[in-house]
Amino acid sequence: MEDKVSMRPFSPVADLDFSEEEIQRYSRHILLPEIGAVGQAKLRASSVLIIGAGGLGSPALLYLAAAGIGRIGIIDDDRIELSNLQRQIAHATDRIGQPKASSAAAAARAINPLCQVEPIEGRITAHNALALVGGYDLVLDGSDNFATRFLIADACVLAKRTLVSASVLRFEMQLSTFKPHVSASAPCWRCLYPEHPPAEMATSCGEAGVLGAVTGVAGTLQATETVKELLGIGTSLAGRLLIWDALSAEFRTIRFPRDPACAACGEAATIRDLSAHR
Ligand code: ZN
Repeated sequence: MEDKVSMRPFSPVADLDFSEEEIQRYSRHILLPEIGAVGQAKLRASSVLIIGAGGLGSPALLYLAAAGIGRIGIIDDDRIELSNLQRQIAHATDRIGQPKASSAAAAARAINPLCQVEPIEGRITAHNALALVGGYDLVLDGSDNFATRFLIADACVLAKRTLVSASVLRFEMQLSTFKPHVSASAPCWRCLYPEHPPAEMATSCGEAGVLGAVTGVAGTLQATETVKELLGIGTSLAGRLLIWDALSAEFRTIRFPRDPACAACGEAATIRDLSAHR
């Protein structure tokens, strides 16, 4: 039980009223014993905040909208550039120069108009992070820098929100789920990365490159883990880091423990607010 996802009160009786369109649209989900009509109703009652409408956020948003998540926030402060289109598949050539958040929202609505997509054209900051993160059931991090990743991770611990986080570089992906508020054994991001990494590790795709399809797999795996967490099905990635090297075509999983001395989720946690983030 301790591994289940905490969600707001949910009434399966009231929420099982599907339209004919919904029954057809979600029929391949409803056929799955692990999802069924009850699970599909749970997805419809769920909300997800996606941070970044880029290489990870694009496929994650499209699949989660298609899956029938009831409400999805998509936050990004960038505008579409030609060099984004090699991997950021929610956008299109004729939308170069437009804000990514509204472009991605339009792509998601085109797939599923039943999904309430909320584009947020701005940055997640120490000032707005808790309100943003707290406004959704689960957070999917598709940001592209470590400063933002630490901010999101700390905000999720403070707001008690499950975080599904992935990163990609060149031909490699790392993915995990963090939910220390759900289980005493589940680590947070800072249990894995206590401090900001040295500069040579914090290389960006803009400097080192990335294979476009690798971001697509990573974002799609994030969408998959998000659905699992929202429904409480399968085995959570909490406490495990999934690493994929596309060049060798090998996946491996590394277990990592919760750190009792963690500054964010430990017994004597020192991070009580986001004031250390600028
Ligand atoms: Zn921790």
